[in-house]
Amino acid sequence: MNVETIKTGKCPVCGSNEVYDNRGVSAANHRKFILVSAVKSFTVDVYVCINCGYFKEFLRDDDMINEKLKAKVKQKWNKTSEKTNAR
Ligand SMILES: [Zn+2]
Repeated sequence: MNVETIKTGKCPVCGSNEVYDNRGVSAANHRKFILVSAVKSFTVDVYVCINCGYFKEFLRDDDMINEKLKAKVKQKWNKTSEKTNAR
């Protein structure tokens, strides 16, 4: 894993420790989703540095171990590669 990630609680841009995230703290309608299919979606966690304004979004950790959800992505989405990007 890349240690230069905001997930460590230290901003990779300005070095501040004033980093906050919204994992599990908000009502469902405050969270962002990426639809995979009509009934499946990724949940997006947001990390912000309130010192410099840098922010980064990640898919929720739970979604990364959800094999059914990942299988749906593999079924529905494009596998990204240089070849598909050149289409
Ligand atoms: Zn920062």
